[in-house]
Amino acid sequence: MGLRKNPNNMNQKIFIKTFGCQMNEYDSNRIYDTVKKIGFNKTENYREANCYLLNTCHIRDKAKEKVYHEIGRVKKIFRSKEKPLVIITGCVAQAENQEMINREPYIDLVIGPQSYHKINDMILNYKEKNKKIEETEFDTIAKFDYLRTIKNRSGKVSSYITIQEGCDKFCHFCVVPYTRGPEYSRPFSEILEEVKSLVNSGTKEIVLLGQNVNAYEFEGYKLSNLILEIEKINGLERVRYTTSHPKDMTEDLIDIYKHSKKLMPLVHLPVQTGSDKILNLMNRKHSIKTYLEIFNKLKKKFLLKD
Ligand code: SF4
Repeated sequence: MGLRKNPNNMNQKIFIKTFGCQMNEYDSNRIYDTVKKIGFNKTENYREANCYLLNTCHIRDKAKEKVYHEIGRVKKIFRSKEKPLVIITGCVAQAENQEMINREPYIDLVIGPQSYHKINDMILNYKEKNKKIEETEFDTIAKFDYLRTIKNRSGKVSSYITIQEGCDKFCHFCVVPYTRGPEYSRPFSEILEEVKSLVNSGTKEIVLLGQNVNAYEFEGYKLSNLILEIEKINGLERVRYTTSHPKDMTEDLIDIYKHSKKLMPLVHLPVQTGSDKILNLMNRKHSIKTYLEIFNKLKKKFLLKD
């Protein structure tokens, strides 16, 4: 095994490859913030990695096969070297769980998106006992509780923050409700803390993320309240959010486009199709009429903005 005896004292190198959306990018950064605690440093050169982590996405066609193909490639690269610890995270990990370890013995750990907070224990346990395991519980509250204790070190001018995860809408074409679990909104104060810490380390723009970001609701606070509170933070210049669902595009959210000083004039609002019949078959829970109503209201707010 490529993970040597004492990771705290060794210069362990982790290579993280991320597929998919901004939320996976955020997750990969948070996974890195976490494994740093047990002695890993990031490398951009996968050939020198002791640990090869694939953060996967299930949205595209043949997602699963792409992962096995990638593992085949890693096997070839490390054929004449010490095998790295191979970890699969993300939505394919959630959907396939134990099956991945059964099908591909080169894989060591499989971790679903709501179990990242267990990664250090899993790695250390694997080092001790050499036992392959999968963790795919929907432990969202425990995950964010744990991540709160670990500083977000994005340090980028534009930083992502996940504020909401999961989905209760069950569009017929989408796997998210099964891979990310039910809708969950992070505590209001915890998000503000994370934004402040990012701004202190140089971030100028915050992108609030959620599978249904505008479904955000914590103890009566909605996305509009959160944006208005975030924009009070000195040093922060811009706020964006993605991705929204038309069903949750409420009046209060539309309204802040007129008053907000830092919210960018941009809305990512998937229309999916121009046909009510197809929207219905997709189980999208909105019609073309309601979509256009939202569009016209937003247009009015933008035009009336001072
Ligand atoms: S609302 Fe979005 S995340 Fe939820 S099922 Fe539909 S497409 Fe997927």
